[in-house]
Amino acid sequence: MAENSGAKTCDVSGCSKEAERSVSLKQVRSSSLSIRPECARSAHLCKDHYREFKKETKKDRKLEQLGY
Ligand SMILES: [Zn+2]
Repeated sequence: MAENSGAKTCDVSGCSKEAERSVSLKQVRSSSLSIRPECARSAHLCKDHYREFKKETKKDRKLEQLGY
């Protein structure tokens, strides 16, 4: 597999999309996303996984979901 140099790839295991955001590894570990083990400090997430991550870290705002 050839890797595109320059573009970061999402660090969620099994995902090969382009990373858009980087978040602290600690935070991601506390969510349900499984990050590649070789990831040391921060995790790079693609758009989709970042959204998923944000959703999980916003769980205390349940009222927002009811509004939909
Ligand atoms: Zn991803």
